[in-house]
Amino acid sequence: MSFESRHAAKLPACSVILPRATVGNRRGWKYDAGMAKLFEDAETAEAPPPDGPPVAAVGIAVAAGVWSTYDYLYPAELGTPAVGQRVRVPFGRGSRKIFGVVVDAERMSTRKAIKAVAEVVDARPLFDESLLALGRWISEYYLAPLGMVYAAMAPSAVGRHAEKSETVAFLTSERRDWPSRLGGRQKRVLDELLEARKQGVEPLTLEGLMHHSGASRDTIKRLAGRGLIRLDTRPVTLEMLSPELEADPFELNEDQQAVMAALSPKLTDGFSTTVLFGVTGSGKTEVYIRAIRQVTDAGKQAILLVPEIALATQTLQRLLKRLPRVAVMHSGLTDAQRAFHWRQIRDGHASVVVGPRSAVFAPTPNLGLIIVDEEGESTYKQDTAPRYHGRDVAVKRASLVGAPVVLGSATPSLESWHNVELSRYDILRLPRRVRGLPLPALEVVHLRREMQPGRIELIGKTLTNRMAAALDRGEQIILLMNRRGYASYVFCPSCKWEMRCPSCWHPMVFHQATQLVMCHYCNHTAALPEHCLDCGGKLLLFGLGIQRIEGELTRKFPAARTARMDSDTMTSPRQFRKVFDDFASGELDILLGTQMVGKGLDFPRVSLVGVVSADTSLAIPDFRASERTFRLIVQVAGRAGRAERQGQVVVQTLHPDEPAVKLAAEHDYDGFVALEMAQRADAKLPPFTRMVRFIVRHNHQLKAVAGAEELAGRLKRLLAPAGVAVVGPAPADIPRIRDQFRFSILLTASRAGVVQKVLGGRMAGLLHDIHAEVIADVDPVNFL
Ligand code: ADP
Ligand code: ZN
Ligand code: ZN
Repeated sequence: MSFESRHAAKLPACSVILPRATVGNRRGWKYDAGMAKLFEDAETAEAPPPDGPPVAAVGIAVAAGVWSTYDYLYPAELGTPAVGQRVRVPFGRGSRKIFGVVVDAERMSTRKAIKAVAEVVDARPLFDESLLALGRWISEYYLAPLGMVYAAMAPSAVGRHAEKSETVAFLTSERRDWPSRLGGRQKRVLDELLEARKQGVEPLTLEGLMHHSGASRDTIKRLAGRGLIRLDTRPVTLEMLSPELEADPFELNEDQQAVMAALSPKLTDGFSTTVLFGVTGSGKTEVYIRAIRQVTDAGKQAILLVPEIALATQTLQRLLKRLPRVAVMHSGLTDAQRAFHWRQIRDGHASVVVGPRSAVFAPTPNLGLIIVDEEGESTYKQDTAPRYHGRDVAVKRASLVGAPVVLGSATPSLESWHNVELSRYDILRLPRRVRGLPLPALEVVHLRREMQPGRIELIGKTLTNRMAAALDRGEQIILLMNRRGYASYVFCPSCKWEMRCPSCWHPMVFHQATQLVMCHYCNHTAALPEHCLDCGGKLLLFGLGIQRIEGELTRKFPAARTARMDSDTMTSPRQFRKVFDDFASGELDILLGTQMVGKGLDFPRVSLVGVVSADTSLAIPDFRASERTFRLIVQVAGRAGRAERQGQVVVQTLHPDEPAVKLAAEHDYDGFVALEMAQRADAKLPPFTRMVRFIVRHNHQLKAVAGAEELAGRLKRLLAPAGVAVVGPAPADIPRIRDQFRFSILLTASRAGVVQKVLGGRMAGLLHDIHAEVIADVDPVNFL
């Protein structure tokens, strides 16, 4: 890594006033850039046209950054308009066609140059009244244009690619027949197919194959032309329908029975929200299965939301074997499959929908239950517009249709816990592990004392010894290295100088994203020095990346079979499956991974879990850092000792006295929550307040500043009378991303809905003439 930090000099040296979260996924930026353009279009599109004689028209919410609905003619040859129907309409300059939803089927329009609907996506509306109402609520609450909300609620492919058949590929050659001179992509296509055959999931869809191999349609067709593979078409099928259900493998234990006895009447009693607080391995999933079955037996549907990653795990396999007609929504689905699923669900052919946050929108006709598993996970928050939270939308949807919600977790979020304390949510507990298994014993070790002098190692003495012993006994190990935050310490190898914070003496951490050095305690930031401040020697960035640990494992345990699992190595669902399967069958000894390995895994032979550094997630200066660290430790520790063997957990840290670490080691959720709640209440942070964050960005720093200041002024004028605190603009924690300067404005209100009430119906005016891109994030989770 270069020491030159080109940006550092130019950036404002901001001391961070805002809490912040993870270096998150940035897939969303592109979409928002598009949104900026749409705002421009909207200016021309919204110029009031002269009035004409009234004509019959429809009102449409278009998928663009505009704050009103638009009138369109509905040509007779398209049939009869219906509310909830999806259409494509010309919009803005030129005649670009975009997605829209009919929200008013009988509108009289006096607009003059009125355009006509171009295409009807589905003749029978996909959205029923309750889904339309849910969309309106999301639009109002999350300050997002209605048409964009509707576009997010239906997978974009639905309709457009609603083919009834799809192309699939079979392998027709053996590896030894493959020509030696194959292109990289061609080779990858063949490898994918070979792997699929080994796993018994051949054929693969052409679309999926293109996605995972990076090969084009033509490349794949050429392979078929050479006789190495065969292409075929087949009807689209609703994946993973259970052919035959397995009987219940055991009786519910006493705790589970007590929970079911309390839950069962709620399942037929309209809307309610219940937090199911059960320690890891307490049998929550089993409770989900029984509750879902009660609902499906009564002819209704259930939705189970899971953090994205859990879709690859055994939990899913268990659900499929035990529940009827499960539709699984996951990122590996092709467009055609997705479209097909959505229609099958609408037509009532699926009883259960399992999926990540967007599955909360599944158009089930007779919804009877929503379960949100590990409701505290940050993956439930969408980081592109509309920035909704899957759990909160689940609760809203359930209230609209009069169905119960269950929020399950071993570490409920403080938001949900607060609602329990206010008696808005009910609580049921599973305080013990099933079959009398003990919770794993946690050992917190001080990383500094664990290191051999003069060596930079990440796996200390204690963990190394425990690992060696576990491997000797033929047991398996999970190692967690949460790489989020990318922390690197600044260190001089020649004089052992370490860069420390001038005010609190904690080691400073270099941030890749900002190219700045930061103290994670007081948030003091500084430029990276060019040379050691003590001896003038060359400085070293001592990183804690996962690859580094992989190298260390090879040196220390050369005989152990290790797999690494992180977003760099796991690029397709099949790769996940392979590592899971190999670990389950005992072909691997050590599974090293990021937070991916922390959730939902149930491997009986895992006796040891090592948290390489609890500090990487603590280090992130965000008011939820402690909560996240606590959750992460409890979750990953929960992977150990799930069968007969007593589980053991070693947590390495530089801050062994940190309450989140200490209390996690004692499995003391109640203690942690009491402490954390008190601090949040003192600091007026959520769940005691509600936040809304605006980001203003532009390629030109001055325009970004001007836009941010104008917006902040308007927000202050509007919101100060309502008692809302408006702080900023200030440079965002990542002040510059991809050449865009970013400024943030943070609103804090004492209650939910205050900001929305004031800004409702005023968004167009609020953003008018602000010549920078504006992002609104309600209840923000990611503060970067
Ligand atoms: P959680 O979701 O709370 O982590 P699970 O539902 O995955 O817990 O249960 C943990 C393990 O215990 C699973 O392997 C499951 O099959 C098993 N299990 C669950 N309930 C029972 C029970 N009543 N009796 C025996 N084993 C059970
Ligand atoms: Zn400091
Ligand atoms: Zn030095």
